[in-house]
Amino acid sequence: TLTDRLSRLVKTMRGQARITEDNVQDMLREVRMALLEADVALPVVRDFIARVKEKALGAEVVGSLSPGQALVGIVNRELTATMGEGVSDINLAAQPPAVILMAGLQGAGKTTTTAKLAKHLIEKRKKKVLTVSADVYRPAAIEQLKTVTKQAGAEWFPSTPTDKPVDIARAALDHARRHYFDVLLLDTAGRLAIDEALMKEIAELHKAVDPVETLFVVDAMQGQDAINTARAFKEALPLTGIVLTKTDGDSRGGAALSVRQVTGVPIKFAGVSEKIDGLEVFDASRHAGRVLGMGDIVALVEEVQKGVDVAAAQKLAEKLKSGDNFDLNDFLSQISQMKKMGGLAGLMDKLPTQMAAKAGQADMDRAERDVRRMEGIINSMTPLERRKPELLKATRKRRIAAGAGVQVQDVNRLLNQFEQMQGMMKKMKGGGLMKMMKRMGG
Ligand code: GDP
Ligand code: MG
Repeated sequence: TLTDRLSRLVKTMRGQARITEDNVQDMLREVRMALLEADVALPVVRDFIARVKEKALGAEVVGSLSPGQALVGIVNRELTATMGEGVSDINLAAQPPAVILMAGLQGAGKTTTTAKLAKHLIEKRKKKVLTVSADVYRPAAIEQLKTVTKQAGAEWFPSTPTDKPVDIARAALDHARRHYFDVLLLDTAGRLAIDEALMKEIAELHKAVDPVETLFVVDAMQGQDAINTARAFKEALPLTGIVLTKTDGDSRGGAALSVRQVTGVPIKFAGVSEKIDGLEVFDASRHAGRVLGMGDIVALVEEVQKGVDVAAAQKLAEKLKSGDNFDLNDFLSQISQMKKMGGLAGLMDKLPTQMAAKAGQADMDRAERDVRRMEGIINSMTPLERRKPELLKATRKRRIAAGAGVQVQDVNRLLNQFEQMQGMMKKMKGGGLMKMMKRMGG
């Protein structure tokens, strides 16, 4: 798996301070394999690797990260950016009824997604929604839309299998207009593979109803071929968005990357179950972790990068050098840094398995709780007390403990830890601060 591969590389790259032409090659080869394994199409992989390489070369490796870990971070950010960041809900900026056209291969999930979107638009956007099926080839498909539309709480416009799809669409649009619907969702016939006649038909449907959204529905489990499907639909229709279905399956969902790159339109939603409420706004960063097959570790690498606040450490070092006292405010900022690094330093050594990553997460959660408690105690002190902890006698301690919702002995424990660190700070006068942070973190 990618996790094994990367962790092997992470080990070999330990002790090197930078990502260089030399050490990046092996690493990128592994990333390339991982993306192919996740079914990202080859040309898309090639482009992607080139971009990552450019970003990675010469990148500074932050704090306690090895170049290998840093590269995982870069790969993850680039993946997230490629699949699109941010939220992009359905566009309804049109004269009502706004038409949404569903396109995609048979079995991709168009009919199911039509109902899911209807529910979403009713509940989240307070819209009056009508659905219609132009799938005249399979009467069962029309019935299926009727059933799921009812579940969604939307209205369904009957279609007659002997009518032409374009006529059905026009009739539904007319009905929607006359009955003041805000949205018309137009479900279309399945294509088993890209089929000229059906492509022509959906292009005509598009012309007839002028949709504000034309959504390409694609199965996350579709393999290398997703890129060709996407290309064909993009040529036939001006797509405005993608819905990635069946992300609850066990595929790594590399299709998302291919489809997004080929169509250039945002992935708006992800299908997360067969049920009518199984639709979520697409989360690119979460999906990136999944494509890489190491979501937990990626998340933790990100944490380290956030956690190691080099600037803050330097500022403190300056302050101590200038002879200022190390006070409880400084303590608080140090504590939160060390806790972050502590959970992580331990984790990084255990990197090989996802299990270890999960244990690392538990450590981090505990560390975070500790930090929050300490923060609570220090926040219950007056600014004067934080600068001059020697003022803290029994009465003040009781007041602080009550304010923070802890026991007096918790306040005492915190003050003990503070004094220990203050002692060390005095000895070091700020020199070697980063080093010490790392040691304590481990
Ligand atoms: P269509 O041919 O494109 O209209 O596809 P359907 O909407 O009929 O869906 C095909 C199958 O995929 C059905 O069994 C759906 O229940 C299932 N399906 C659709 N979306 C999802 C999803 O997000 N998760 C899961 N697990 N199943 C889905
Ligand atoms: Mg269908």
